[in-house]
Amino acid sequence: MTQQTHVFETEVAQLLHLVTHSLYSNADIFVRELVSNASDACDKLRFLGNADDSLFENDSELKIRIDIDKDAKTIKFIDNGIGMNLADAIENLGTIAKSGTKSFLEKLSDAQKQDGNLIGQFGVGFYSGFIVADTITVESRKAGELSSQGVRWVSNGTGEFTTEAIDKAERGTTIILHVKDEHAEYLDRHKIKTLVNKYSDHISLPIQMRKEVWQEEELTEEQKTNGETANGQMVATDEWETINQANALWTRSASEIEDEEYNEFYKNLTYDYDEPLTWSHNRVEGRLQYTQLLYIPKKAPFDLYQREQQRGLKLYVKRVFIMEDAEQLLPMYLRFVKGVIDTADLPLNVSREILQESRDVKAIRDGNARRILTVLASLANSDEAEKQEKFKQFYAEFGNVLKEGLGEDMPNQEKIAKLLRYATSTDDNVVTSFADYKARMKDGQKAIYYLTAENLASAKNSPQLEVFKKKGIEVILMTSHVDNWAMNFIHEFDGTPLQNIAKGAVDLDDLTDETEKEQAKQAEENLKPIVEKLKSVLSGRAKDVKVSNRLVDSPACLVVGEGELSPQMVQMLKQMGQPVPESKPTLEVNPNHPLIQKLETSEQFDDLAQVVFDQAVLADGGQLDDPAGYLKRVNALLLK
Ligand code: ADP
Ligand code: MG
Repeated sequence: MTQQTHVFETEVAQLLHLVTHSLYSNADIFVRELVSNASDACDKLRFLGNADDSLFENDSELKIRIDIDKDAKTIKFIDNGIGMNLADAIENLGTIAKSGTKSFLEKLSDAQKQDGNLIGQFGVGFYSGFIVADTITVESRKAGELSSQGVRWVSNGTGEFTTEAIDKAERGTTIILHVKDEHAEYLDRHKIKTLVNKYSDHISLPIQMRKEVWQEEELTEEQKTNGETANGQMVATDEWETINQANALWTRSASEIEDEEYNEFYKNLTYDYDEPLTWSHNRVEGRLQYTQLLYIPKKAPFDLYQREQQRGLKLYVKRVFIMEDAEQLLPMYLRFVKGVIDTADLPLNVSREILQESRDVKAIRDGNARRILTVLASLANSDEAEKQEKFKQFYAEFGNVLKEGLGEDMPNQEKIAKLLRYATSTDDNVVTSFADYKARMKDGQKAIYYLTAENLASAKNSPQLEVFKKKGIEVILMTSHVDNWAMNFIHEFDGTPLQNIAKGAVDLDDLTDETEKEQAKQAEENLKPIVEKLKSVLSGRAKDVKVSNRLVDSPACLVVGEGELSPQMVQMLKQMGQPVPESKPTLEVNPNHPLIQKLETSEQFDDLAQVVFDQAVLADGGQLDDPAGYLKRVNALLLK
């Protein structure tokens, strides 16, 4: 049969123009695209061969070969997959089947078409060969068809291509790139091998290249006596060797994988010397199908709290490596998780921008978050000492990051809250969960009480804690910066309100007997004139002054409104250079404290009032606006 000339479909011609004019800087991608096509072709044959064994033609060892010929300036991608006949070649290589690609092209403005970045974000597939080749020859023969039904397809990537029938004994497809002079760097075995290892290492088929040996040129006797050294070069042999790992651990069934293999894979993936704390390997079947292999490290990286740190998972599409650190696959508060996601449901050319907007990616992210929380819950709730120990280890490293999830991941807030552990006023160890606390609550106690402070010592000495200590009520002590922020997002646990004892009023009525209540009322009555005087003296600093029901040993404490920022939070924001809404705290005074009682007769009422307020600030772990003024006043009072 003779050669026929065909005209490319309009969209293909447009695409080719874009590819050759805009993708210089992304030239590498042709390796990934052509290997992926060869792998697809083998997958198709394997699938059809299941039903019809004869399609394998007694050769079921599917493989991909890449053959470089420096003299001919060609790179061949050879596969023994499903192959194409004449009609297939015209259809598959002359038109664009994917409607998405077409409409994408139509939407691009002329200016956008010049933008190599943009074009790199969508699939150019087979045509990416034209970035580096001035001519592409495709020779193919379909599985199960006669060798005389082979086809040769040739194009220089402009408007046309030719086809002709050929005789081809070997089943499958050979793509021959005639490499442009300016891209001669790709005629290098090492270069191609590096790209295969980068993108296609986990393609489950062997990818082979010719073995090379070092060959020296013979020296003449004269050269030898002159002591000259021989020149030499690497020369390709007839032997083939597999250059990829051809082993995607995550595609194997979990029951067949040894712990040792998981550990080794983790080390290769993360460059961590240590083994992981734990992992989870699952195939998720639903509207979206993907494999997740997620690891929790033993130790936090040094830059865990730097927002710009590298994070995320490795993304593969059908075992082809797509990107490192795909941060869209994990919520921020799980940024310590490492691992691999492999899905058939995203396009090969998916970019970070596309990942950001994709609903499918969001579904994968949600699935990953749920999975990690389940793994953590099973460690936390296990009866086995080893697992409990692992949870402890985890919590010591990552507990504070997990708390960020209270604000970041509302749908999972309850699950996260169940995993949190704190010290309390009766136990310094960070082991108490909200559920433990609830189980220990007193009759008549209406809320889970907590306190935030700079550190454990200042929490334990906090004036706000006094009445709780006296009444024997346990209070959760929160001492991490993130607590201040995170606790703004959670208001109850399992139906019981969570209450910061330094905010708003504390209602301990049901835990107070009648005589105590009567005494408190009387004390408040007696102190009224002093409270009024304090209000006017401290009007610039305190929003209000009240008689307190939470103090036992301290003269005074500061309380902020229910919805207001705690003093620690205000300080944190100030340190970060953030604007802080101006708000004044309420001063609560202890009617039974001698210092407060002394105010009644004091001749230095104003100074004493200021000192009482300053001390309440200090007891809260706060900083004084005017420390020198404070010292002056205290010294004056001391001398009296
Ligand atoms: P995609 O792979 O996304 O379908 P490509 O542009 O990469 O798009 O390839 C276009 C089509 O050409 C493929 O769908 C396939 O039908 C055909 N094709 C490409 N390479 C091969 C190959 N090595 N063997 C068989 N068919 C191939
Ligand atoms: Mg493709």
